[in-house]
Amino acid sequence: MVCPNCGMENEAGVSECIVCGTPLSTKEISIKETKTDNTISNILIIVGILVLLISFGVLIYSFLSK
Ligand SMILES: [Zn+2]
Repeated sequence: MVCPNCGMENEAGVSECIVCGTPLSTKEISIKETKTDNTISNILIIVGILVLLISFGVLIYSFLSK
């Protein structure tokens, strides 16, 4: 792992440069993975809310139509 900031060669698996503390590329990849996970969970939450709203609307409609 070569530091993009100072050019220092760090050991593999190190999250930050030992000289200047710049986050190395492995950390950036994990951040991107967390972002994708957040997007998927956000979509699941939105779908869950939509299902709840639709079922709630159906309940109110069937209650009012009686
Ligand atoms: Zn560095």
